[in-house]
Amino acid sequence: MSCDTLSTPPLNFISNPHKELFIDGRSCPAVAGERIETFNPATGRVLATLARGRQADVDAAVMSARRAFEGPWSRFTPAQRQQVLVRFAELVEKHYDELTLLESHDMGAPLARLRGAKESYIRNILYYSSQARSISGDTIPNSLPGNVTTMVLKAPVGVVGGILPWNGPLSSQMYVIGPVLATGCTAVIKPAEEGSLSILRTAELLIEAGLPPGVINIVTGLGCEAGSALAAHPDVNRVAFTGSTVTGREIIRASAGNMKRLQLELGGKSPDIVFADADLNKAVPGVAMGIYNNSGQICFAGSRVFVQRDIHDEFVDRLAAYSRTLKVGDPLAADTKLGPLVSQRQLDRVLSYVNKGPEEGARLVTGGQRPGGELSGGYFIEPTVFSNVSNKMTIAQEEIFGPVACVIPFDTIEEALTLGNAIDYGLGSGVWSSNVNTVMRMIHGIQAGTVWVNCYGLLDPAVGFGGYKHSGYGWKGGPSQIDGYLYQKAAYINVG
Ligand code: NAD
Repeated sequence: MSCDTLSTPPLNFISNPHKELFIDGRSCPAVAGERIETFNPATGRVLATLARGRQADVDAAVMSARRAFEGPWSRFTPAQRQQVLVRFAELVEKHYDELTLLESHDMGAPLARLRGAKESYIRNILYYSSQARSISGDTIPNSLPGNVTTMVLKAPVGVVGGILPWNGPLSSQMYVIGPVLATGCTAVIKPAEEGSLSILRTAELLIEAGLPPGVINIVTGLGCEAGSALAAHPDVNRVAFTGSTVTGREIIRASAGNMKRLQLELGGKSPDIVFADADLNKAVPGVAMGIYNNSGQICFAGSRVFVQRDIHDEFVDRLAAYSRTLKVGDPLAADTKLGPLVSQRQLDRVLSYVNKGPEEGARLVTGGQRPGGELSGGYFIEPTVFSNVSNKMTIAQEEIFGPVACVIPFDTIEEALTLGNAIDYGLGSGVWSSNVNTVMRMIHGIQAGTVWVNCYGLLDPAVGFGGYKHSGYGWKGGPSQIDGYLYQKAAYINVG
């Protein structure tokens, strides 16, 4: 590919593209010795092979995590756990170019976008390092007769299963290993098939940061094998799952055996709502990147774009014109805004929705094509805008997980709220308006875990993130997430 590429360090994995599991602090092959292939989505060619973990490998990893939980890790003080996280942040900073290069090759995100997230990624690690020293119990005045002291103590729940998606492996992983390390839990992580390489590398960095072997283990492989073995494992106390709502339901069923605690971060189909009084110079690019970021493969992508009728036609024209300026191309090129979709399967899925739109009466305004030439081997698709969409159409109701904006007109605030909420999901949402009354009405009325006003997609781990309705439960980030990794224990001490 001919574009100017960002400066890149040598990729260690190129000299050894055959990756193993990471259990008990070291790489080891799967018990059955089987492997799966992963593909570079920009070229469609095989990139690496991964060990195909199954039940026996998950058993070994959980056993290692349990040993570490009861052994050396249990003796780490909060300050020592904090120190590991601080050292990990330093190592991530040092190796960030390598980690992001791995991720870009593996799942296709533009390298410039990943590199731009460096500071916020390191801030996330440091946020969790601060949480390691912020855990406290309570001494509660009671109304009991006699001289009884009552306390509520907190203790780590034990072994956590972290099951990750491919659309942002490094960031999803941090929302699991952060609270695990802050609270003194241990974990077995099952990365997605299409996003394992950066996760395997961070496991090595954690050991370098001083983490005892067994605290974080990585079992690569298929969801229906390694993933389901982990979700159902009787010695796993909590599962933190990020992925589709369909798989989320399976995780709930699998958790029943030993009553696992769950954190479910699931799918979305988020409304991004533009009022006629919005500043369109900000709203047009804001809405566009709210859906096109990561080629639309973001759980909170603002894929349902509601536009007040007075500005509807102008907005559609400007959104389409802006979309055509965005470069689709080599993820390593500095000016690429949209890389490929992650896999052939994902490309087929997105194309099927692009075909479905006009069948149901939507108008394809721009995009919808696969670029040819040097991009023809990869899983690329142009940013796509549909107008004439009604909220009942398939493209307006189902999560496409691609760069497809569906524009729907509305007249009043009430209608915007009714239409925006008429969906099974409730993850993100956006409001573009200069009227504070409109903004406050929307913030209170929208059924979603996050409302972005005159911006889209900002996240801070101290604030937290989660869903309403079928988008899952359990908050990631913020103090309530930390509580999910802790048991509470009441103590009544009769001192009289
Ligand atoms: P997915 O559900 O197919 O896979 C997610 C993970 O689950 C993968 O590691 C996979 O191997 C594993 N898995 C698959 N079947 C399993 C099973 N039966 N038991 C246990 N594990 C299993 O999702 P995906 O396609 O990788 O990711 C895209 C989805 O994730 C989208 O729906 C997106 O909205 C959602 N997502 C949500 C958030 C959030 O924070 N809410 C963030 C990122 C992605």
